[in-house]
Amino acid sequence: MGLLDIFFRGGADNAAASAPKYTHVKIHPQVDNGIPAETPGFAGGKLTCKCKSNPVVVQLTAQTAHNHVCGCTKCWKPAGAIFSQVAVVARDQVKVTENGDKLDIVDASAAIQRHACRECGVHMYGRIENTEHPFHGLDFVHTELSDKTGWAAPTFAAFVSSIIESGVRPERMDEIRGRLTELGLTPYDCLSPPLMDAIATHIAKANGKLS
Ligand SMILES: [Zn+2]
Ligand SMILES: [Zn+2]
Repeated sequence: MGLLDIFFRGGADNAAASAPKYTHVKIHPQVDNGIPAETPGFAGGKLTCKCKSNPVVVQLTAQTAHNHVCGCTKCWKPAGAIFSQVAVVARDQVKVTENGDKLDIVDASAAIQRHACRECGVHMYGRIENTEHPFHGLDFVHTELSDKTGWAAPTFAAFVSSIIESGVRPERMDEIRGRLTELGLTPYDCLSPPLMDAIATHIAKANGKLS
């Protein structure tokens, strides 16, 4: 392939990016019809599980950060979605306020202990108890469980290739990455560069390579 071919290929890709062509590809109900804007100064709200009676309620007293869609097999996803949507918030801003007796830890041996409602299966928060973990102090939450708008908007897609592990056909990956890119959710097969850098910096400080 010559330089000119690459140039024209690039031109074709740019044209595709300006006119959405993957709108038939469904990612997650919170992003499929456009991503709601976040509200400056937003200070949190209640997350409620899907139980019709006696739902578990978790109060968040801060805006979330690093919201993203995630293709891993561990995050809770709403029915039919191939990605979850998940954000972080400081653990001391997370409080179970109703029906906490319905929560069980999905896998106590996992780095992120996901506290799920045992009746409806929704994960209410994921907590890291290992104080050495790079993300210790942050809880993972699904703000779609709130009836408020204004939460931090998702900004990238993590662990995209992992959706194949959930049974998505590998030949669909081009259209799925295409749709994520159209939505402004840059697809990564691990976490975003700032989060990967934060993990590596934590490790380098722990082993003395950085001070
Ligand atoms: Zn429930
Ligand atoms: Zn995940």
